[in-house]
Amino acid sequence: MPEEIVILGGGVGGTLTANLLDKRLPKGSARIKIVDPMGIHVYQPGFLYVALGLANSGWLSRSLRSLLRPGIEVVIDSAVKIDAKSKKILLERDGELSYDRLVIATGSYSDEQKVPGLHEGSYNFYSMAEAERLREALNNFTGGTILIGIAGMPYKCPPAPVEFAFLLDEMLRKRKIRDKTRIRFLSPLNRAFTIESASKMVQPLFEERGIELETFVNVDTVDPEKHELTSIEGETYSYDLAVLVPPHRAAAFLVDSGLVDKSGWLAVDPNTLEVVGQEGMYGIGDTTNLPISKSGSTAHFESPVVVEQIRRSIVGSNTNLLSSIGRIKRRSVSPSKLRYKGKVTCFLETGHRKATILIFNYDKPPNPPKPSVVWHLAKWFFNRIYWITVPRGRV
Ligand SMILES: Cc1cc2nc3c(=O)[nH]c(=O)nc-3n(C[C@H](O)[C@H](O)[C@H](O)COP(=O)(O)OP(=O)(O)OC[C@H]3O[C@@H](n4cnc5c(N)ncnc54)[C@H](O)[C@@H]3O)c2cc1C
Repeated sequence: MPEEIVILGGGVGGTLTANLLDKRLPKGSARIKIVDPMGIHVYQPGFLYVALGLANSGWLSRSLRSLLRPGIEVVIDSAVKIDAKSKKILLERDGELSYDRLVIATGSYSDEQKVPGLHEGSYNFYSMAEAERLREALNNFTGGTILIGIAGMPYKCPPAPVEFAFLLDEMLRKRKIRDKTRIRFLSPLNRAFTIESASKMVQPLFEERGIELETFVNVDTVDPEKHELTSIEGETYSYDLAVLVPPHRAAAFLVDSGLVDKSGWLAVDPNTLEVVGQEGMYGIGDTTNLPISKSGSTAHFESPVVVEQIRRSIVGSNTNLLSSIGRIKRRSVSPSKLRYKGKVTCFLETGHRKATILIFNYDKPPNPPKPSVVWHLAKWFFNRIYWITVPRGRV
């Protein structure tokens, strides 16, 4: 009998994993299903460009079906509960699904209700709708104070608010209203953002551009009428426009299924990515509790590790069947493919057609090179080739 493999989530991690499994598993050894509420794959890094009027939203989404290999079944539905004992997933619209192996890649959700006044009093670029709303507000902006801040940790793509600050500065200069605008960057930490070595590169550039860095600002409330933000530390910041990264959380069904740890994220082994205490169940991407950036790149590097473990477990348990099909390739797999070591690679735009790159893992922090046009062009190129590479498993 073919193994039933179910993947929850058709974003970066889920789409890539489905395609890699279909490519690498012996034919006939598994049935692969991917569950996603809309059946639409979204390229979220593009939200930043949409918010700043640098791109329209048309190129940011594709149908999931169009990105998947033909043998993979798409189930348009949402998981509402996982029963790990009976290996069943309860779906919102259409009954339940059984699985032998399960990959959870349901990303992260914005949790705006966590901070009073946040939704009414601020903008963000963490969804298509919010990015479009922010673009409109920036179009109408003629000068004043703009706050850029983080209303909860962890959040996806830690460099994104920093990139937004640099690109906003550039945009306002082009519109000749920079001298009428104060940009204040509110960080919950003692530096510009999570990674110390990258902050050391970012902070002098903030100074050079007149972007004011305020440290230890943990957002408590936002008052949409007074246009004021109050921090847990007791300070008040007035604004004309506030751009605040909303708090993030894992999908609610993971909490209801008892699969999250105290932090509220899916508890996985940092190297094998297996869900703690659940054999044959894996987690990748934003939804995990790993101490590493929530980024598409993380999901991209995690996916082959999960695929290789599933491949091994299936080939091992179906040797006779697979030998008879004659499609097992006896190749040795490097041990590195069986363990995720925290690899992440992220570009960071610094404005004026320059960018740098952050390459790091669990043990080694990044040592970002001086911002240059080369990395800006590399990011630009990556944005263009995304649809024919990453989700299809071609890089
Ligand atoms: C503005 C911005 C800029 C970014 N820039 C970068 C960047 O430059 N580089 C980078 O690497 N990353 C970047 N990211 C982060 C990156 O987009 C995410 O980290 C990445 O998409 C995470 O992949 P994922 O597969 O974990 O989740 P997602 O890609 O978010 O996919 C999750 C999927 O799960 C589905 N889902 C949710 N709930 C359920 C359910 N109950 N049942 C079934 N399916 C469900 C969702 O509909 C979605 O399709 C950026 C993000 C933003 C917002």
